Amino acid sequence: MSQITLQASVTALRGVGEKLQQKLNKLGITRVSDVLFHLPLRYQDRTRLVPLGSLRMQQECLIEGVINLSQITYGRRRALLCHIGDGSGSLILRFFHFGKSQQQQLAKGQRIRCFGEVRQGPSALEMIHPEYQLLPADEVIPVAATLTPVYPTTEGLHQLTWRKLIAQALTVLAESAIKPLPDEMAKQFSLLEIPLEHALKLVHQPPPEAPVTDLVARQHPAQKRLAFEELLAHQLSMRQLRQQWQQYQAPVLTTDSALSASFLSALPFSLTVAQQRVVGEIYADLQQPIPMQRLVQGDVGSGKTVVSALAAIAAVAGGYQAAIMAPTELLAEQHYQTYKQWLLPLGVSVGWCSGKQTAKQRRDMLAALAQGETDVLIGTHALFQDQVQFQRLALVVIDEQHRFGVHQRLALRDKGHQTTIYPHQLVMTATPIPRTLAMTAYADLQVSIIDSLPPGRQPVTTVVVADNRRQEVIARIHAACQQDRQVYWVCTLIEESEHLQCQAAEQTLADLQQALPDLRLGLVHGRMKSNDKEAIMQRFKAGEIDLLVATTVIEVGVDVPNASLMVIENAERLGLAQLHQLRGRVGRGEIESHCVLLYHPPLSENGSARLTCLRENQDGFEIARRDLEIRGPGELLGTRQTGLPQFRIADLLADAMLLDDISAAADRLMSAYPEQVPVLIKRWFAEKMNFGQV
Ligand code: ADP
Ligand code: MG
Repeated sequence: MSQITLQASVTALRGVGEKLQQKLNKLGITRVSDVLFHLPLRYQDRTRLVPLGSLRMQQECLIEGVINLSQITYGRRRALLCHIGDGSGSLILRFFHFGKSQQQQLAKGQRIRCFGEVRQGPSALEMIHPEYQLLPADEVIPVAATLTPVYPTTEGLHQLTWRKLIAQALTVLAESAIKPLPDEMAKQFSLLEIPLEHALKLVHQPPPEAPVTDLVARQHPAQKRLAFEELLAHQLSMRQLRQQWQQYQAPVLTTDSALSASFLSALPFSLTVAQQRVVGEIYADLQQPIPMQRLVQGDVGSGKTVVSALAAIAAVAGGYQAAIMAPTELLAEQHYQTYKQWLLPLGVSVGWCSGKQTAKQRRDMLAALAQGETDVLIGTHALFQDQVQFQRLALVVIDEQHRFGVHQRLALRDKGHQTTIYPHQLVMTATPIPRTLAMTAYADLQVSIIDSLPPGRQPVTTVVVADNRRQEVIARIHAACQQDRQVYWVCTLIEESEHLQCQAAEQTLADLQQALPDLRLGLVHGRMKSNDKEAIMQRFKAGEIDLLVATTVIEVGVDVPNASLMVIENAERLGLAQLHQLRGRVGRGEIESHCVLLYHPPLSENGSARLTCLRENQDGFEIARRDLEIRGPGELLGTRQTGLPQFRIADLLADAMLLDDISAAADRLMSAYPEQVPVLIKRWFAEKMNFGQV
């Protein structure tokens, strides 16, 4: 191995053939050093056996016992249940999928060791589909000596493969020299005193004596050290982007046009003070000859769409085009309808661009666009495609930012540019994150906040109810629908896989239909074809469905003002931010709205604090702040649920206290050691800067 360097292609590693290389490339891993920086998402503790008598719910752990009873039950779903005991307590193993031979193996008297998550079952604690190993009756089988890292991965790339690749990459690292950060920096920021090599080695292969709880809680100094550097690299790349932008030119737009005046006077409402302020900030940018790079944050229902329309109007009034992009077909369609309703009467033409158009529709759309007949084009990611060419694009609006990565934003930037003119960019998100965090997460953007809701909004009354009171909830649904209201029933992730989750949603639909035979029910879940999903959502919007059973796919932006009740099952398993987003689907009209958070008792102290916070608060920013307080270290909900950018090891929320130092370190590095900047960025974000996509 000695001649391999960190810069060598991954194919230099043993076992990396063409197929594996392709999979690795898909994750943005091309060089040996990229393997090294593919960091564990978390750890599994298989170093000790937990006595059954001291299991805690939601604990992921290693257990051992003897099967006392093995039986097939035919409840809601056929399942194989194995009751095991170890003298200190008992546990049920539940299998939904099992073969004949498996069933025979899992017989009474068999000693078994399992790894899995402990859950509260209907009658006792359970593990669903644990990993298991059959053990001989009375031999001592050693447990793992070290924590087991779990790597983010892609289909067909197993954890074992990762461990092998990483072991090799660590050998290469041991024989290489990584240019360290300047001494002065290590002195100023104490975390940087740990050499990078040590930190990498420790997180990949924690030695047996490493503190397990610290590592699991992501509190180990080596982890913090890496998080610091990753956030620093992110900050540097964002700043670089921002500097680049400022060297580009953008069309100067006039903002006090007759068009915007007639738009405003035709609107059935007047803008809130917050909306006016944000429009003012946007308009100030649009009058500059450099491209706007602005993020508008506004809670669900705060009225971001009309703000984006005013920006689009400035482009159109100046004789330019605007593009509006949303993350899903449904949201794009919703914008399309809204924009048409607002803009067509003013003589502004609105076009539609989606991946599902027929060849002819597409040709017509492209022609109209290229000839400048379309003023505002609305669509999904299909807008990114190369053939979509604007005649004179001046503004790009991206709604619900967190579904798109930075590099996608960059791709859109390049759409409008002829020679050196770039379009202005407006990014909108409902993710309520505190301003300081937003400034780090989106350091390449200016931030505007719509901090109040339009008048007349009814707060959503939220109640927290144990799921053994399901009957009462069902009666409530019936009552709401009797009054011609509509209802969402959200099934959340209670199952291991999306497949099982969708099955569970189907089962819920069947149960609810039986309980509510006179209502019209519909179902949307992640495994449905997007056409079918859209069709159901459209019918719900049109009032043809009373009760919509859904998985969390309905999270973002959907606007059905007549929906006045939402029931969220297993609410205790979701993050606060996500619950708040979901709840924002109701309370969008003038009707009094309700949200029922169903939980499965008993509720942990933390779970109880979270649900109470949601019951007592309506303001997304306040909820985000409380979320930070309530989640202790060791409880990592991950940024995935909050819509913040994803990192390899850093967590913007958990590492928030590092941000001031990181900003200072970025200043120092840029002014005193500019040659280090590209090194750091490349180390963490490879070529494609595709953080967030793993
Ligand atoms: P979001 O910020 O979640 O995207 P929308 O733009 O969809 O919110 O607005 C939610 C609803 O509020 C829409 O029906 C919109 O027409 C309405 N709305 C927006 N601004 C105002 C306002 N100033 N006064 C009254 N209603 C408004
Ligand atoms: Mg919206």
